[in-house]
Amino acid sequence: MVLSGHMTKNMVATRCLTVMMQVLLKQQYFLLFFFFFVRFVSLCLALVQLQHKAITLTRDEIQTAVSHTDLDKMWQRDLKPLLVTRYPSSEGSQAVQNHIKATIGSLGAGWEVTEDKFRAQTPYGPLPFTNLIATLNPSAKRRLVLACHFDSKYYPPQWHGREFLGATDSAVPCAMLLELARALDEELKAQKNSSSKLTLQLIFFDGEEALFHWGPNDSLYGSRHLAQKMASTPHPAGATDTNQLHGIDLFVLLDLLGAPSPHFGNQFASTTTWLSKLQNIEKRLHSMNHLLDHPSSVQYFWPDRSVGIIEDDHLPFLRRGVRVLHLIPSPFPSVWHTFHDDEQNLDRSAIQNLNKIFQVFVLEYLNTRPVVPSDTSSTSEPLTQEAP
Ligand SMILES: [Zn+2]
Repeated sequence: MVLSGHMTKNMVATRCLTVMMQVLLKQQYFLLFFFFFVRFVSLCLALVQLQHKAITLTRDEIQTAVSHTDLDKMWQRDLKPLLVTRYPSSEGSQAVQNHIKATIGSLGAGWEVTEDKFRAQTPYGPLPFTNLIATLNPSAKRRLVLACHFDSKYYPPQWHGREFLGATDSAVPCAMLLELARALDEELKAQKNSSSKLTLQLIFFDGEEALFHWGPNDSLYGSRHLAQKMASTPHPAGATDTNQLHGIDLFVLLDLLGAPSPHFGNQFASTTTWLSKLQNIEKRLHSMNHLLDHPSSVQYFWPDRSVGIIEDDHLPFLRRGVRVLHLIPSPFPSVWHTFHDDEQNLDRSAIQNLNKIFQVFVLEYLNTRPVVPSDTSSTSEPLTQEAP
């Protein structure tokens, strides 16, 4: 009986062990299947993003698109309110944030504007920061992101009497994004209502500038925080396999814009196609006489000219695998980080030209054609054929 009892216990134990092994094995297979499924889903999304094809607008569509942009309106409505001292936690910073929120909130396309508020340790102690994120259709899976930083560089009290306004750095890029949203309001509204899986997102970063001395812990406060937050936020809502960073097709960062004759070199082989697209749009607009002070010898975009990586708000996104187009001139404007970076030294023609180029780029990337008024239609043929 004792032996038999032992045998029974052993048999039961063996059976239990076998069942447990089978369950574990099944769980392992399940986990393995789940792991590959998750990888498969995120790879599918990445593949769709990589294979995205932009359209090419016809001459009439380009004519219609660029007729909506207005440099004087941009100057008065968007740029002037941004040309104030606006370092993190300053009164000017709050006023600029209010202006950005009110401007985007007043548009007909119906943007969702959210704030990413946080505190970070700085050389002057903990300070509050706020990033602003405007999303045209928050439920769309994929996003074209356009970004700029709205803070101005802080100069300590010994400089009192001189105010650093950071016109190119980066009041103009932020005003350009507001003007783009205003000028393309009708087109973006239609794009949003088309149930496209792709949408446009505008990001206005706080705290790009170093407060004391540029370094990994004293710079890029806003972009470091937001990239981390997006990486841990499921997207679309409820997703277990993808986060907000996976949703970004392309992260386009605008910085140091507004000086004459900008040259944009190529920092990233992974986005050469899109820099070439900008070059192509520049050529098309030039041939249609839509660009001011832009003789044939002038060229802004240089996809074949490599330039070194420049530290900026794209880095926290780039390091997490996001594809980046960094639209910063090389060399930097001569007024960079001087008190001459002000309204008087801005080049109106270059700003207007870039506005037109960026607006056509956004429409073509989003596959959105402006509605051409019937009395202006002359041809529906694209000006040139090109790679996507
Ligand atoms: Zn700067």
